[in-house]
Amino acid sequence: MGLTSEWARAWVALSAKVIAENRVELTALDRPIGDGDHGENMNRGFTAVVPKLDSLAEGSAADILKLVAMTLISTVGGAAGPLYGTGYLKAAGAVAGQDELDGASLVAILAAARDGIVLRGKALVGEKTMIDAWTPAVDAAAEAHAAGKSELEILQAAASAAEAGAVATEPLIARKGRASYLGERAIGHRDPGAQSTALLLRAAADAAAA
Ligand code: ADP
Ligand code: MG
Repeated sequence: MGLTSEWARAWVALSAKVIAENRVELTALDRPIGDGDHGENMNRGFTAVVPKLDSLAEGSAADILKLVAMTLISTVGGAAGPLYGTGYLKAAGAVAGQDELDGASLVAILAAARDGIVLRGKALVGEKTMIDAWTPAVDAAAEAHAAGKSELEILQAAASAAEAGAVATEPLIARKGRASYLGERAIGHRDPGAQSTALLLRAAADAAAA
C-alpha cells in the first residue's frame, strides 16, 4: 500500500519543525560562505506554510506540495526561495491527480524537484550547492525502488544519501551562488542549502515512518 496525502501533510509539518529546530545551525553554515541568512530564510518560509496547510482541509499530495511551493516563492527570498519553490512546484506536477503514492511516485517527486532546481539554478553536481544533496538522493531512491524496496525504505535511502551528499560538499570549491565569490576559501565549509535539503528529506522519511 502506498502513501497518501496524509504523508505529504506530515512531511510539511515535520519540515517546519525541523527547519525551526535547525534554524541557527543553517544560518551558522551560511555565515562563512554566504550572508548568514539561510536558516532565517527557510524558517520564514516554513513558518508561513503551517497555517496555510491547516486551512487546506482537503487536498491531494500535489495540492500540498504546490502550497509549499507558492509560499516559499513568496516568503523565503534569497537564492533558496525560488530554487526550493520551483522544486516543490515541479514535484507537485509529477504526482498531480494521484491519491496514492507508490515507490515510483516518490522517485518522481524527488527527481522532479531536483530537475526543477537545476532548471532554475543551472548547478551541476560538485558545484557545492543543494544539488549535491538532491542528486545522490534521487539516485539512491531510484536504486531502492528498482530493488523492490518499500516506500519508507526508498525515502530513508534518499535521506541518507542527501546527508552524505551534504557532508561531501565540505571539501568543494563553490561554483554557484554567493559562496562562489570566495574561491578556495569555501573549502572546509558545508553548503547550507545541501544541509537544509538533507533535513527536509530526512523529514520525508520520518513522516512515512510515523
Ligand atoms: P542567498 O544565497 O541568496 O542568501 P540562501 O542563503 O537562503 O540564499 O541560500 C543559499 C543556498 O542556495 C546555498 O547554500 C546553495 O545550496 C543554494 N544555491 C545558491 N545558488 C544555487 C544554484 N544556482 N543552484 C542550486 N543551489 C543554489
Ligand atoms: Mg544566504
